[in-house]
Amino acid sequence: MADKNSIMRPETAAIHVPDARHDGAMAPPIHLATTFEHGPAYEPLSGHQYSRESNPNTVELEARLTALEQGDWAFAYGSGMAAGAALLDSLALGAVVVFHNSLYHGFRFLAQDLESKGRIKALFADLNDPQALSAALAQKPALLWMESPTNPLLEILDIASLSEAAHNAGARLVVDGTFASPALQQPLALGADYVVQALTKYIGGHSDVMAGALIGKAPDEAESFHRGRTLSGGIISPFTAWMASRGLQTLHCRMEKHCANAAKIAAALNDHAKVDIVHYPGLASHKGHDIAKKQMSDFGGMVSIELTGGREAALKMASKVKIFTNATSLGGVESLIEHRASVEGVDATSPQGLLRLSVGLEHFDDLIIDLLNALNC
Ligand SMILES: *Cc1c(COP(=O)(O)O)cnc(C)c1O
Repeated sequence: MADKNSIMRPETAAIHVPDARHDGAMAPPIHLATTFEHGPAYEPLSGHQYSRESNPNTVELEARLTALEQGDWAFAYGSGMAAGAALLDSLALGAVVVFHNSLYHGFRFLAQDLESKGRIKALFADLNDPQALSAALAQKPALLWMESPTNPLLEILDIASLSEAAHNAGARLVVDGTFASPALQQPLALGADYVVQALTKYIGGHSDVMAGALIGKAPDEAESFHRGRTLSGGIISPFTAWMASRGLQTLHCRMEKHCANAAKIAAALNDHAKVDIVHYPGLASHKGHDIAKKQMSDFGGMVSIELTGGREAALKMASKVKIFTNATSLGGVESLIEHRASVEGVDATSPQGLLRLSVGLEHFDDLIIDLLNALNC
């Protein structure tokens, strides 16, 4: 099987998983068992003992994620936040963590909470600015934390060069790869040490899975992350693991359409008089376009726009759309629109005139007509 696996392209490997079939069934069963038979002296008989440690569905999902991310191990959790929290929890007391400024707000709040208890020292810096990067590295961080593309500004960070900078300073690099998904980008192959994925988004892909994963490549770290998850109890449920695993089978195919629709929307809105800025790494005018071209196979399904009319215009447009739905989250088959500053609340870091679009799989014509109608209202 190893030979067959090694020649499979990622699209094929996501669908054909060695050992995933049981009794000839084309879809794997869901193992709801919480406990598995063992020998009289707790000898393992099936490879599983108790589902807080592992379960056939969890292991199958983790094998797929490990292969697609080109890692050595993966652990799946009940949410993307739980996966990221597990990584922060693995750090020594008082460890310095440098977060890129443009950051998923959940991780910003978690970092601030952990810092207020003295658990970590959280620093925020523009990791795209060489001076800010060296100042941050001089603080001797244990970990650099970045997304690419970032939420919601769609900034691009150079994973290979930040990995090198982190390693030269004795730090590790984690990439929250949620916006790209493993279909478009493999941070571990570019030098990163860990990847966080919110499976809730593109991997689940249908707005009906809440899950996350931490993927890494240092074989000697697998045991302590496994132990940490067993003891803190954050494991994904068997049903959710089965759903996420099914999502992976269509991930590449869905991403092609997400990317194609998003690219056309970005291009169409880029020339609109009421749109001040279109943030989309696929536009040649985007600051990170060349790096995105180097490290991604396509530019993703997320587009953020800033309206010339600011907050008022953004809220008006969001109230006028008919096919796009005002809802948080992203990566589902349906298109969503969101005024991020409202979601983030009083401490919002997103521009007030910004709307984030999660471009779905509908026909492009319907989507662009909806957006233009709402803009022109
Ligand atoms: C949604 C999201 C998360 C958190 O994932 P949950 O499954 O909601 O916990 C983390 N990072 C990014 C970039 C996200 O978009």
